[in-house]
Amino acid sequence: MLICNQIAMVRQQVQEWKKSGLSIGLVPTMGYLHEGHKSLIDAARKENDRVAVSIFVNPMQFGPNEDLASYPRDLEKDAKLCEDAGVDLIFHPQPEEMYKQGFCTYVDMNGLTTELCGKSRPIHFRGVQTVVLKLFHIVTPDRAYFGQKDAQQLAVVKRMVQDLNVGTEIIGCPIIREEDGLAKSSRNTYLNEKERQAALVLSRSLQVGKALVDAGETNAQAIRQAITGEIEKEPMAKIDYVDIVDFETITPIETVQGSVLVAIAVFIGKTRLIDNFIVEK
Ligand code: AMP
Repeated sequence: MLICNQIAMVRQQVQEWKKSGLSIGLVPTMGYLHEGHKSLIDAARKENDRVAVSIFVNPMQFGPNEDLASYPRDLEKDAKLCEDAGVDLIFHPQPEEMYKQGFCTYVDMNGLTTELCGKSRPIHFRGVQTVVLKLFHIVTPDRAYFGQKDAQQLAVVKRMVQDLNVGTEIIGCPIIREEDGLAKSSRNTYLNEKERQAALVLSRSLQVGKALVDAGETNAQAIRQAITGEIEKEPMAKIDYVDIVDFETITPIETVQGSVLVAIAVFIGKTRLIDNFIVEK
């Protein structure tokens, strides 16, 4: 397994693979890898001749009061997980390698980024889109793998690829959870014991919503209220949003119909956690 800090190194390897007619799968991550990331790597492993994982805590997608500095990092452990999972190349650039002096070009979007996480993280998706497109240009993958855990990100990347004619196929992968239901996340490491227990309210409240949908409820407001009510029972939880949107356009809906995303963001103490489920009706 090759670990590259330099874009030129990645390009050289990718060129060799392409010359040999090998397909490439890319898994973009911010590192501190867990079973959720591994599920994306496994999917990429199955469908491509070579697998590249990028590990980059992208400063551009963090707001001024967010956790850029404290975001957990452990390259050694990540490299071991990648090696064991059959990854061929890790791309681990420093910010200076990705954003050279004078950098001033961004990828932005008018739709899809205003709701959900876009409300409380106004510059987040601009940073995500920009770095993802850069990674696509560097690695030129045939396929790229994204988790449904970050459902809005998945929708945004799919839209960007379509709008800008990027020749990479975007594959969405299901949410991997802890045994007790908490969606796996690098940010779960911020939680102390009490908060870890309180964090179960996210998956629990979504189960309440899902049960309503399964029982035939199509009124988005009713589903939203049930989820909100369940979260409010947990004193350590503070709601950022509970929203029901069209999964493709990320616009609010009143009636559950078609492909629908039920998404929540909740603060447990200082830690902001997200979770969701998708309904196909
Ligand atoms: P991150 O390192 O948090 O930026 O995540 C990198 C990729 O892994 C994104 O596409 C995430 O959606 C995905 N991912 C993170 N956590 C999970 C999870 N619990 N299940 C599935 N995919 C995940």
